[in-house]
Amino acid sequence: MHVLILGGTRDAMNLAAELLARPHFKATYSLAGRTRRPLPSGLPTRRGGFGGPSGLADWIKREGVDVVVDATHPFAAQMSEHAIQACQACNIPLARLDREPWQPQDGDLWHTAPDLASAAAAIYDHSKSGDRILLATGGRSLSHFEHIKQRHFTVRCVDAPEPAPKFDDWTLLTQRGPFKLENERQLLREHRIDMIVCKNSGGAAADAKLQAARELGLPVLMVQRPDVRSAGQAFFHYLALVDFLESLHTSSAIPR
Ligand code: NAP
Repeated sequence: MHVLILGGTRDAMNLAAELLARPHFKATYSLAGRTRRPLPSGLPTRRGGFGGPSGLADWIKREGVDVVVDATHPFAAQMSEHAIQACQACNIPLARLDREPWQPQDGDLWHTAPDLASAAAAIYDHSKSGDRILLATGGRSLSHFEHIKQRHFTVRCVDAPEPAPKFDDWTLLTQRGPFKLENERQLLREHRIDMIVCKNSGGAAADAKLQAARELGLPVLMVQRPDVRSAGQAFFHYLALVDFLESLHTSSAIPR
């Protein structure tokens, strides 16, 4: 059974490792190609876009894909929508490997913004001149914040952004999660951070900064997830999704 994993997340890597250990699955791992040095999934891997929903549908047919797993990041809304359309066109199952969004806890000082542009506008409401802001929204989001004056940005992303953002005053930290609480505490203190701006990605790899912010009484400007149409079955743990794939494999749902 040929499984196409639309990847780019730690959950997708966990799923890939699990399928690698089960030789009755043929699996292909797909990356958009944004990260310069992606961690190897162990599976045969393709990189780059498919060329929209029709390109993905063509790829599915050409490669004999039986089921698609959308294990992309919760903010990768376009890829998720394309997967829905392509699977419908090819009449094959689609499963979503998801994670619950983070929820504010007692002691949190969260402000929310519906998208990156709104978050950039809200920075003036929730910070003051001279404040130091940890921007953990990803390297491709930075242009939304470039016009903001009189703030210092500490930008954390996996790769150095190219071209470099046009901030007046900024520091770059190239780091890849998962992040530990003690390191997040140290980062916030060392860089004298006054506020964090991040996406509500959910999951355990990047939530330590929220706990550190709570401990230090720092505000967090949380960008809400984009709306993604739900289709196919959603799973919140990669092992539950493996069980689903196993059930497809043993049932007659997939012709072999
Ligand atoms: P997006 O806006 O939903 O996708 C834009 C285009 O990139 C898609 O239409 C598709 O091109 C291509 N693409 C995206 N994911 C792909 C994949 N896994 N394999 C092949 N092509 C893919 O997504 P994005 O926000 O650019 O994110 C790209 C990748 O980075 C995703 O795999 C995601 O899991 C990962 N990521 C995203 C974020 C985030 O905040 N957005 C954070 C961490 C990781 P075509 O239309 O040409 O097929």
